[in-house]
Amino acid sequence: RKGVVVITGASSGLGLATAKALAETGKWHVIMACRDFLKAEKAAQSAGMAKESYTVMHLDLASLDSVRQFVHNFRQSERPLDVLVCNAAIYRPTARTPTYTANGYEMSVGVNHLGHFLLANLLLEDLKKSDYPSRRLIILGSITGNTNTLAGNVPPKAGLGDLRGLAGGLNGRNSSAMIDGGDFDGAKAYKDSKICNMLTMQEFHRRFHEETGITFASLYPGCIATTGLFREHIPLFRLLFPPFQRFITKGFVSEEESGRRLAQVVSDPSLAKSGVYWSWNKDSASFENQLSQEASDTAKARKLWEVSEKLVGLA
Ligand code: NDP
Repeated sequence: RKGVVVITGASSGLGLATAKALAETGKWHVIMACRDFLKAEKAAQSAGMAKESYTVMHLDLASLDSVRQFVHNFRQSERPLDVLVCNAAIYRPTARTPTYTANGYEMSVGVNHLGHFLLANLLLEDLKKSDYPSRRLIILGSITGNTNTLAGNVPPKAGLGDLRGLAGGLNGRNSSAMIDGGDFDGAKAYKDSKICNMLTMQEFHRRFHEETGITFASLYPGCIATTGLFREHIPLFRLLFPPFQRFITKGFVSEEESGRRLAQVVSDPSLAKSGVYWSWNKDSASFENQLSQEASDTAKARKLWEVSEKLVGLA
């Protein structure tokens, strides 16, 4: 049978490119888990994806009810779940004030981390039940976790501190809207959320890999400077960022190439190792990358897990 992969945020950028790459192999049925049904359907069609290769299902990660409803709907479809890709994200670098999810959590961390944290925990049951030879749970990371690169050190640097803002409810009222308890900074909130994504992947690996055999992985797909992720940035940045990445840092990758990379993490037998943060070198060869000290801090990963469980209603 075909493998079944759920990809969140498959309506644009990396998610769409990956959905297309997997659908084209004829070996995968892609569940596009998206907040805008019509946009996702149009995106799939204009990417030339064959009708029978995908299903669009509604998922808004800014609402924990929507996450639970998605899991319910997916189970009603009676498809198995072989791979889950937590790819959706928002980035609000120019925001001066925080916005909040339906549950009152700062939006970047609420969507990128907490929504996915609940989704992945609920769908773990479905992954366990699958009889697919290589079941995987993939959470998108970012270069923020690399200390061996220039881009990983551009301010504002990520930092979760002692998680006091998150533990306080990340609501900007009786707690800070930032995980570390500091003043709101939209770019930092995104970077913090990506650290959470990488810590969560490793904590999943420690808790469940041995028992379940499921592969847990994260990756930095390269700088895909053309995606919608930068849609909220100032126009001058959006004009200069792609050529800067292409010619100066040389970290630029096309959406197509990044889609091929993520598709490898989904299905390539040589990328089946669990607990790994994958990256690619200049020749587009994959390698196991090192994470920064904070992004591989086991005590912080455990604490993040426990606080997150409370915020999403799992504990
Ligand atoms: P895009 O903005 O193009 O795609 C993000 C996707 O997430 C969109 O489909 C968007 O939906 C979806 N999304 C946003 N909010 C929600 C929500 N509340 N519920 C459900 N879906 C939502 O960005 P990219 O493709 O660049 O980013 C994909 C991933 O890759 C992210 O995890 C990002 O952190 C990571 N990444 C990207 C890099 C880059 O250089 N671009 C570098 C490193 C990592 P909609 O279409 O409706 O807006």
